[in-house]
Amino acid sequence: MTAPPTRPGQQAADDLAAVREQWGDLLAAIAEPPRGADWMPYERKGFLDQLAADDRHEDDQALDEATVGRLPLILREHPAPANLPALDAVREVEGEVFDMCDVVAERVQRLARDQHGRWTLGSDPSDPWWHMPTHRDAGPMTIASAGSRVFGLHWAARWLGARALDDAADHDLFAPTPATLVDQIADVARTARRRVEGALGRTARTITLDEPCPFCRTGHITVHNGGGDPRAAVATCSTGPACPAPVETERGRRAWRGPALVDLFTALESRRTATAA
Ligand SMILES: [Zn+2]
Repeated sequence: MTAPPTRPGQQAADDLAAVREQWGDLLAAIAEPPRGADWMPYERKGFLDQLAADDRHEDDQALDEATVGRLPLILREHPAPANLPALDAVREVEGEVFDMCDVVAERVQRLARDQHGRWTLGSDPSDPWWHMPTHRDAGPMTIASAGSRVFGLHWAARWLGARALDDAADHDLFAPTPATLVDQIADVARTARRRVEGALGRTARTITLDEPCPFCRTGHITVHNGGGDPRAAVATCSTGPACPAPVETERGRRAWRGPALVDLFTALESRRTATAA
């Protein structure tokens, strides 16, 4: 009989899955300088890249594909990271998740026998265990091996999510995860997800831009960023239907959605340039 996962266990697994799914975006964001358009949903910033058509690197696409199995989706060396808050988020989330894996492994991981009958924690890269970093005797903090950290956050988050779900089918390899430990995993997972989504501008917020509407030149532009759903992102002008902006009205206001948000950005930029000239 397999017991269904507990509610905190399921929540932890869901949050860790959300972290994994957005990890490639966060790594890519490190190389992208903030453009002074913080109100733009992250997904739309890709359109700005195409408009600028200058600094796209070919390996950015490769990042999104490197999300299967134990392929390490890891932090690349950025000689001059453009987006420090994104880099901070990466390091913080990695640290928290890796440390939690160490704690969980110490509590629930069973020793196993290898094919020669020797007790082992395994060293095959396909083994299901979490390996802690090992240290040389030479110095207290000299790391001899990074253990499972070498596989990156993506694999760690998946391993940790499985321990939170605590499938009975795994109980020959892992002891049941105690409820208090599941709660700790859920805390780490919730914080990590919030951190990643915050760094990507995917937490819901509504802001009013400093500049007036570039079309009617008097209205205030209010932007709701969609809270992670780019289809829900919308900007409106306070003037009402009298505003000549070339978009539909919603609830009596001109409203920009989807690709039209990029048009609004472009209009704001050219207005700014014209004012500066
Ligand atoms: Zn307007």
